[in-house]
Amino acid sequence: MAVPKRKVSPHRRGNRRAHDSLKVEAFHECPNCGELKRPHHMCGHCGFYNGREVMVPKGI
Ligand SMILES: [Zn+2]
Repeated sequence: MAVPKRKVSPHRRGNRRAHDSLKVEAFHECPNCGELKRPHHMCGHCGFYNGREVMVPKGI
């Protein structure tokens, strides 16, 4: 919505965002590590997608 940021009260903002949450169906188990990941997305935990490592996870 093209409305100045301060014009929208916290209540209104919250009402708008009430429908923004992701549903449970939007998550699937990662076949590699078992962590929940979004379908058609790389696993954020182990960096695997389509059976191969596409990214080395940071901080491990
Ligand atoms: Zn994984």
